[in-house]
Amino acid sequence: MSNSSLVSYTKISPNRTSPRKHTIDTITIHCMAGNLSIESCGNVFANKDRKASSNYGIDSNGRIGMYVEEKDRSWCSSNSDNDNRAITIEVANDGGAETGWHVSAKAYESLIRLLVDICQRNGIKELLWKGNKSLIGQTQLQNMTVHRWFAAKACPGDYLYNKHGEIAKEVNNRLNKKQVNFQNESNITDKSKYIWDRLIAAGFTSIAAAAILGNLYDESHFKSNNLQNSFEKKFKMDDEVYTAMVNSKSYDEMTFAKDGAGYGIAQWTYWTRKQALYEYTIKQGYSIDALPRQVDFLIEEFKTKYKGLMDTINASKDIQIASNLVLTQYERPADQGIAVQKRRGDYSQLYYDKYYIKEVAVPFTVKVNKSNLNIRTGPGAQYESIGYTGIGKFTIVEISNNWGLLKSYRVNRNGWICLDYTERV
Ligand SMILES: [Zn+2]
Repeated sequence: MSNSSLVSYTKISPNRTSPRKHTIDTITIHCMAGNLSIESCGNVFANKDRKASSNYGIDSNGRIGMYVEEKDRSWCSSNSDNDNRAITIEVANDGGAETGWHVSAKAYESLIRLLVDICQRNGIKELLWKGNKSLIGQTQLQNMTVHRWFAAKACPGDYLYNKHGEIAKEVNNRLNKKQVNFQNESNITDKSKYIWDRLIAAGFTSIAAAAILGNLYDESHFKSNNLQNSFEKKFKMDDEVYTAMVNSKSYDEMTFAKDGAGYGIAQWTYWTRKQALYEYTIKQGYSIDALPRQVDFLIEEFKTKYKGLMDTINASKDIQIASNLVLTQYERPADQGIAVQKRRGDYSQLYYDKYYIKEVAVPFTVKVNKSNLNIRTGPGAQYESIGYTGIGKFTIVEISNNWGLLKSYRVNRNGWICLDYTERV
């Protein structure tokens, strides 16, 4: 058994542990008789009189606790044979008996992730569920069992019991999926700089690129798995859960396209655009949230369906006007009012100031005569001061308007001074 767990869990006070007498080939999902945190569930197990435990517990916030290590058996299913071969998982319920012991979307997603991880580490190729008690022990036909088969109990509750087929399907989808991702995506530490560079390389001017960046920032903060906030509540899914469901194809193409929720860096919403994004990513083996692919898609949109707009913003000499055009013709959110225009224009100006580079052919030297000239992280007074130059001579390697980048900050481009307070020598 490999130790490399893909999911993170908290180890909590195991009580009764004794080595398994059988290899792990079965999964038994239970429901807690309440909405317990993983710690509260651990306290129940820690009470020796209860003579109860499970390998794992999941609470309604999706946190996973481990009480009994996988190499050991738990006392969970009222059946020694079962507990010796099964990994047992208690899931908190957030709805009580009248809902069939409903569990939260976060708990459900953590359960799926944990199951995928358990299967991968224990050589379980797929989960098999037939809802057939007479197949207990015939793991080549069915390798999931439920507590109600071994004792007069409702466990795991009708909600989870009825989801067993869906759980098996979802886990098997994820086990089989070859998740193609951009190998270097984790190297994109500065998303705004990455998108800026891609846009400039694709033929956008600095003003046009800044206008697009300002709008994208307001839409998603460049978060490529961003699900429109109002829909997180409606769907009871956060960004991560929604994205995982789309990637595993549990949430299929047309459901994704037509659910009305904005998604991705540009918060694409209209169904034909979401469907096109799906074709651009999932259909070609990429994750729906692959940032480089979303940028490819955005550029493709501008070069085809929004070619007129691209030409117009490339001809623009005014950042606010270019930003308004991207707002009203490309993004087209419900609110395009003055406040939104102003905010996006301001963001666009910030990205313009940050990235617009007027390289100086030859670095030059300036003399600073005041001791308290701020060194700022970007080319403008709105950027944070990180110290003072002191009086002396300094080499400037780039300029942006009346601001100069100090040579010693060349690599990270985060040390700028206002050239109005200097004398060129
Ligand atoms: Zn149970």
